Amino acid sequence: MTIDLINLPDKSITCTKCDACCCQLEVLLITETGVPERFIATDRWGGMTMARLDDGWCAALDRATMSCSIYEQRPFICREFEMGSVDCINERTAYYRTAE
Ligand code: SF4
Ligand code: SF4
Repeated sequence: MTIDLINLPDKSITCTKCDACCCQLEVLLITETGVPERFIATDRWGGMTMARLDDGWCAALDRATMSCSIYEQRPFICREFEMGSVDCINERTAYYRTAE
């Protein structure tokens, strides 16, 4: 039996040529990766999330470089968000459409 892959990464997409579009998404902290306390918020259900600024960006995003300032301690969900995946492409499409 073969199973078709439906989430093949697009190799032409790289984070270095992206305004960190995915770093505006809600990020739940589901494992302990060492995220500094100052970047942790609590949602209305008591769950821990990455804190976001008023404009929606993750508080740990370095705005000068648009890269993660806590890369080695970034949450599990950020590690799993695959560059070039369908989710990545969707976020880029939505971001750059509104930025035009
Ligand atoms: S994973 Fe995708 S959306 Fe996120 S920074 Fe990289 S290229 Fe941009
Ligand atoms: S922790 Fe880092 S990779 Fe994750 S959303 Fe924040 S800035 Fe982006």
